[in-house]
Amino acid sequence: MIVNVSVTGIGLRLRDPILIYSRMDLNRLLLERAERAGAKIEKARVTEISRSASGWRIQTKTGALDADFCIVATGARNSLRQVGTELTPLDTMAALGYYVPGDREQIDIQFLPHLEGYIWVFPRCGHLSVGICGKGEPAICLRKRLEDYMVEKGIPWKGAAFYSHLLPSLETPSWKQNRVAGDGWMAVGDAAGLVDPITGEGLYYAIRSADLAAKALLSEISSLAGHAYRRMLRRDFATDLEFGSRLAKRVFFGRFLFGTVPGRMVQFTRSSPKFASVMQDLFAGTQSYLGLKRRLFDNLNGSLLEIAMNVSLHRLMAGRVRA
Ligand SMILES: Cc1cc2nc3c(=O)[nH]c(=O)nc-3n(C[C@H](O)[C@H](O)[C@H](O)COP(=O)(O)OP(=O)(O)OC[C@H]3O[C@@H](n4cnc5c(N)ncnc54)[C@H](O)[C@@H]3O)c2cc1C
Repeated sequence: MIVNVSVTGIGLRLRDPILIYSRMDLNRLLLERAERAGAKIEKARVTEISRSASGWRIQTKTGALDADFCIVATGARNSLRQVGTELTPLDTMAALGYYVPGDREQIDIQFLPHLEGYIWVFPRCGHLSVGICGKGEPAICLRKRLEDYMVEKGIPWKGAAFYSHLLPSLETPSWKQNRVAGDGWMAVGDAAGLVDPITGEGLYYAIRSADLAAKALLSEISSLAGHAYRRMLRRDFATDLEFGSRLAKRVFFGRFLFGTVPGRMVQFTRSSPKFASVMQDLFAGTQSYLGLKRRLFDNLNGSLLEIAMNVSLHRLMAGRVRA
């Protein structure tokens, strides 16, 4: 359980602790729950799906299955080209890093100049995940940025296990034409591009979209389920993620009060309890992007006043020390 987060060197103590789960344990828990609910688990790679008279013919490495309806949950690297989000290179983000032996009780997040992405140091079970995600920059450059950071922080990477993945990170126009459902199928999670375009997080959206897909399928006749699912997604979180895709460029590359937005965010977090509280909620996932603008605007006067008072106090103290 983690309560301390450092954002580019500024410490935040979270009101709501972050639970770190082993991915293997989480996957196992989900499969066990599905099995308890009546699902039959087949461990096989799907090589092809095609329409049949009664629904779908699903070809696997070990045989074939028939299905009335298809829920596609293949992740970002979906080889079933006729279903799920059609990701263009602009709609993806690279994520890579090292698993390093070690332990710590804090998460580090580091913003970097001119990068739509960030570096993280996450404690996992028995080791650290030290990684970087970034959009619009070749993986080799991201790896160099990460290794430079690790050298600077004294984190050894030589001999550590390396990982590299692809994350969906949809541009705003792609959200509008996102292919999440069609005749007899629905896509969930990364296969539907349902990932936060700023943080790259997708676990919650994968589970929630599966939940909505099940609800749509149970509440509608199957020919209408796709429409219902699309509607539910938009109402639940997809509109917020689409708005997040618009915010992403401003968050990483924007300027505010003659400084970069990430720089100002760090400064404001340090100087203003009100702003720090907004950051807390963003980390906890309880602050939507759609509501963020209003909240920042409502708090702006208070935050700027706190920051101005802090600066004055520091100047006064510095003056006293010099005197
Ligand atoms: C390095 C990294 C760190 C991350 N950290 C976080 C985090 O801290 N918090 C967070 O919220 N999100 C995080 N994410 C994002 C998160 O992992 C994904 O959004 C989430 O796993 C998506 O779940 P999914 O079920 O849609 O896809 P996946 O987890 O990718 O699962 C898809 C599964 O389908 C299988 N599959 C694919 N094709 C086929 C096929 N043809 N036949 C059979 N099986 C197939 C795959 O093998 C895989 O097991 C991270 C991503 C990366 C890359």
